[in-house]
Amino acid sequence: MLCDKKFLIGAVALLMGVMPVCGQTNQRPHVIIVGVNGMEWDIIRPLLLKGELHNFAEVIQRGVYGKMRTLSAPNCPKVYSSIATSTPPEENGITGFVVAGKTASTDMLKREPLWSILSKHDVTVGMANVPATFPVMPLNGYMISGMLTRGQGCEDGILCSPKLSEVKGGEAVYPPSMVAELEMNVGDFWIDCSRMPTAEQLKGKEAEAIDHWLQQVSQVRAQQAKLFDYLLSHHRTDFTMLVQSCEDRVGHWLYPIQPYNVGYDPALHSIRLNAFPDQYRAFDQVLGKILKYVDKNTYLFIISDHGIKPLREFEEGRRLYHSAHDHGGNTPIIAKHDFEDGDDVPGSFIAIGPNIKRDVRLMGFTVSVFDIAPTILNLYGIPQPTQMKGHVLSEIFEAPPSQPTAPSAR
Ligand SMILES: [Zn+2]
Repeated sequence: MLCDKKFLIGAVALLMGVMPVCGQTNQRPHVIIVGVNGMEWDIIRPLLLKGELHNFAEVIQRGVYGKMRTLSAPNCPKVYSSIATSTPPEENGITGFVVAGKTASTDMLKREPLWSILSKHDVTVGMANVPATFPVMPLNGYMISGMLTRGQGCEDGILCSPKLSEVKGGEAVYPPSMVAELEMNVGDFWIDCSRMPTAEQLKGKEAEAIDHWLQQVSQVRAQQAKLFDYLLSHHRTDFTMLVQSCEDRVGHWLYPIQPYNVGYDPALHSIRLNAFPDQYRAFDQVLGKILKYVDKNTYLFIISDHGIKPLREFEEGRRLYHSAHDHGGNTPIIAKHDFEDGDDVPGSFIAIGPNIKRDVRLMGFTVSVFDIAPTILNLYGIPQPTQMKGHVLSEIFEAPPSQPTAPSAR
């Protein structure tokens, strides 16, 4: 299949020889990346210590884990675009939810993303629900778009969650012929996690509104889990990237804060205290299903674009502020991630696979969002393009991975 035309420029230069990596054979590596938006160690650690996240605990014991340095004022579209291109937002063009007055889209991407480079090297690629991948791009496999997919009633820069049948303004699935197959086998699923209720919708009926919204979140996750399971079982690809977004959205307004926290409203925050931790309990079940497809020769990376923390100070007009920066709408949020210093809300990184160290906690910020793409390319023996800012994470391997530097004609 063809890659996106604009990224075909220079393809000849990139078509270099594939070398075995990390002491593996010439067999093409199998890699799965699972993205969990806004994964927060402060919430996950107590659940791990209580033994409530069996699958997550198993992965951690089998691999390396720790924080991942993210961008300044991180949000999903710009961080995922930096992960995909290993370049900062000002270079790759995706600087936030809105770019030059319009919702961020793949048409605005100025640097070649990981999936395009992999495709050019004949690596089969599968993508589902990755933020800022709408409209989908042709690649050597399949792509189902994620956050910022446009549909009925969507306003620029404001999150909405169209179902597959409600998508407008571009294609959400590549190849287009896959739409009918997905509708038949998975159903008419929501592309992204549902939008949070507004302050008006909550007023006076908080418990009812929260429960109703959380019910839809559960449905979205169930659909995503079914989609992931279908794709992994019926469309196995060398490289697969799957992303969930509900964890982040729940955290924004249902983070279990205390009365002395900024923004505390007893009508909202004295009920459903488990709503946010429950998202990770639910993710653990999804992870269990994905682990069925992770054999001893598979690399699994679980990553998060950023964490999420309670507001630290009163911000006058914060609802307006967050409508511009944190997913839009006017939900009374009490946790966020667009702190100027990204180290205040680090992302997460967990990796297992052949030759990856076991039960090792990475201290400090060994890993940054820029390192993911170079490391994945290295696993396939593909040299790191010069524009990429990150480095190959040799620290996580028992033996340093080989550095593919000598191109050879195929
Ligand atoms: Zn968020």
